[in-house]
Amino acid sequence: MLTPYVPCKLRYDFAMSANSDLLDRSLSAVWHPCTQMKRHETLPLVPIARGEGVWLYDLDGRRYLDAVSSWWVNLFGHCNPRINAALADQLGKLEHVMLAGFTHEPVVRLSERLRELAPAGLGHCFYGSDGASATEIALKMSAHYWRNTGHPQKTQFISLQNSYHGETLGALSVTDVALFRDAYGALIRQNATVPCPDWRNAETGENAEAYALRCATALEVHLQEHHEHIAAFIVEPLIQGAAGMAMYHPSYLRRARELCSEYGVHLIADEIAVGMGRTGSMFACEQASIHPDFLLLSKGITGGYLPLSVVMTTDDIYRAFYADETARGFLHSHSYTGNPLACRAALATLDIFAEDDVLNANRDKAAFFNRIAQPLRDHSAVKDFRNTGMVWAFEVDTPHADFAQRCFSLGLQRELLLRPMGNTVYFMPPYVIREDEMLLLVGRTLEVIDHLT
Ligand SMILES: *Cc1c(COP(=O)(O)O)cnc(C)c1O
Repeated sequence: MLTPYVPCKLRYDFAMSANSDLLDRSLSAVWHPCTQMKRHETLPLVPIARGEGVWLYDLDGRRYLDAVSSWWVNLFGHCNPRINAALADQLGKLEHVMLAGFTHEPVVRLSERLRELAPAGLGHCFYGSDGASATEIALKMSAHYWRNTGHPQKTQFISLQNSYHGETLGALSVTDVALFRDAYGALIRQNATVPCPDWRNAETGENAEAYALRCATALEVHLQEHHEHIAAFIVEPLIQGAAGMAMYHPSYLRRARELCSEYGVHLIADEIAVGMGRTGSMFACEQASIHPDFLLLSKGITGGYLPLSVVMTTDDIYRAFYADETARGFLHSHSYTGNPLACRAALATLDIFAEDDVLNANRDKAAFFNRIAQPLRDHSAVKDFRNTGMVWAFEVDTPHADFAQRCFSLGLQRELLLRPMGNTVYFMPPYVIREDEMLLLVGRTLEVIDHLT
């Protein structure tokens, strides 16, 4: 049953139900992320009791289709029996041991398997706990590499306009999202940004590839002038997620790789969101046939189960730290580095990729989705409908300034978890989504858009 939409109150009836006690306790004890907490005076939290496949269930048994993979982390559904079994097995053996001076089978096996899967040359894995820590590690490692190799002046970084690489202070210094940055401006080192190759910014008559190459020329000009002080260029390959699923042509990455090599600047591929099959290949870099100096993974690496991030580096970078002198080493650590449970979840995730031929199955799913999404693409209020791999996005022409909030609320009333960024609606569903679930997702999203346009 769909609850009628009440425009001025934005309340759902679960706020009055068995769920409400949990909501009150949460608001009294928990500081929720990425939230102006005062908004919850009128906007109830969504209390989740359990999950199964693409569905999340609240305490009253209402369900929500997790069309955003719980912030882009879930790959094979909630409570996946195979990942659960791997974790249960690991729980009986070893929950955690520090990784400095110690090692264990899950972290060794995961590093070996990632090395086999990733673009050639990325021989070593350094572990962190979440995406932002992976960014910090890569930035520090890059600058430290240049210091160790006699270029201590190379300490600057460049990123794309509208880039997002996490929200710790170092990561914010290469993140170009004003809302996340401005309050902390005084704490953040300024780094340069270069034009982003998002094809929506192309001139009329200019195709996505021509525009990407024009942006690469701007990168070239910047590198020509500043390369002596630049350690690395950090980039989200193919899709800039937090920018609103901005998509661009792989030729940009090919050209960026050439330019970085030519000017002695590291290329850091932040595949925290786009890795693990999201763009149609295991890693987005593969679609440009490039070899980055650093590859960052997190989010989907554990199938969405546990916090884990990986910084893969080339053997050249690894060797620059290998010396008798302690201070030449990379003396960075997080308490939970290489946690065995998280590594087992990641290994189980890689097993599912291999056993179920996931990348091929996803190609069929994406083709089906594109067919059934035609009415969305054709909707008069929908602009720039786009797709890369298992990610879809489009802008909605709407009179509502608070479109994102309304869309979220109307979605929940229709069993959908949609979380638009501004006027950009996107789908990044778990790969286990079935055809009937895709039909439900498209049909109900159309209803929501009809309401708001
Ligand atoms: C989410 C994200 C991060 C940050 O990861 P957290 O685990 O949230 O710290 C960094 N880069 C990209 C591209 C991301 O999408």
